[in-house]
Parts: sequence; C-alpha cells; structure tokens
Amino acid sequence: MKGDKTKKKIKTIKIDVDKCNGCRACEVICSSFHAAPKYSSNNPARSRIRVIRDPLRDVYVPVYAGEYTPSECAGRDKYTIDGKEYDECSFCRASCPSRDVFKEPDSGLPLKCDMCEGEEEPLCVKWCLVDALSYEEREEEVEEAVEQEVLETGLESLANKYGLQKIMDTVARMSKKA
Ligand code: SF4
Ligand code: SF4
Repeated sequence: MKGDKTKKKIKTIKIDVDKCNGCRACEVICSSFHAAPKYSSNNPARSRIRVIRDPLRDVYVPVYAGEYTPSECAGRDKYTIDGKEYDECSFCRASCPSRDVFKEPDSGLPLKCDMCEGEEEPLCVKWCLVDALSYEEREEEVEEAVEQEVLETGLESLANKYGLQKIMDTVARMSKKA
C-alpha cells in the first residue's frame, strides 16, 4: 500500500580523499561535540568519523560511522590502494560485532554520525582546514510509511542486542549530563 508523500532533507558530506592530510582535527571536534557535557573532553574513540591513516604512502581516508548491524555480514571487503592491501573491513561504515570501531567506549553502544544535530553545518566539515570535507543538502520526496519503518527497525535491532533497559539507561545518563 502506498502512503502519503513527504519531503525529506538529504544531507551529504562529500569526501575528497586526495585533499585529506590525516590531521585528525575532524575526530577531535566530533568526539568533543559528543562528550558529556559537550566540549568537556575529546577522545577519538568517541568520534563518529575515523581517519584510516597510512602516512608512509600518504593515504588518508576519512570514514563516517553508519548504521548499527547486529551481526557480521557474510562477505568481507578488502581494498588495495597504491599497491597496498588494507585489512578486511577497514573502510566499512558499520558498527558491527567483528571490530571495535564506532562503539562508545564506556557503554559499548554503537556510534552513528548524526550530522551534528542542532548545528548549522557538520563540525567536522568546519574544522577541516584543507576542504577535504564539504557539506551539501537537498530535498527528496519519500513515502511516510517507509521512513517510520526504517526508524522502528533500527530501534528494534538495538533493543534486541543490548536490551531495552540498557538503551534507556544510557539515553537517560547522557541527557542528564548534556
Ligand atoms: S580534518 Fe580534514 S584533513 Fe584532517 S583528517 Fe579530517 S578530513 Fe582529513
Ligand atoms: S557530522 Fe558531526 S557527528 Fe558526523 S562525523 Fe562529523 S562531527 Fe561527527
């Protein structure tokens, strides 16, 4: 059944890998923005962007935290750049059980880029002095029912994995500190 159409704002961060110099300022500001209270500390382990760095080859690849996935995927990605083969899953955006990246260090809950909700522009973009990151917005029409389903599926899989109580406790703790 087709639902009503609604406008959805699509936010995109474009990544120019050739411009990135691996300075990690994006990781610093992201983790600081998401500290509780805000800006009270910085710890790249809390950042929703991680820069895969290979200084000897001058390869730096910023990767954003994407969706949480409750189980490992069946296949693996392996990239070769400038003749070097990188570890499996190095450039994957998912928070998944097979690795430690994109997990909140204290609670173990998955991290996901929220585009710096409440800010005019993503802070990692602002702090990237060499313009390796740039921000764009556009509007698209989507069906309301589809949007709701996506939201519910995400919450359900988190609750199944960590338990609803842990999710609620963490949200309560974070909103108290914020
Ligand atoms: S701030 Fe920009 S140049 Fe520095 S690591 Fe992040 S993306 Fe790369
Ligand atoms: S947009 Fe905001 S939340 Fe996402 S990685 Fe950049 S600083 Fe972090």
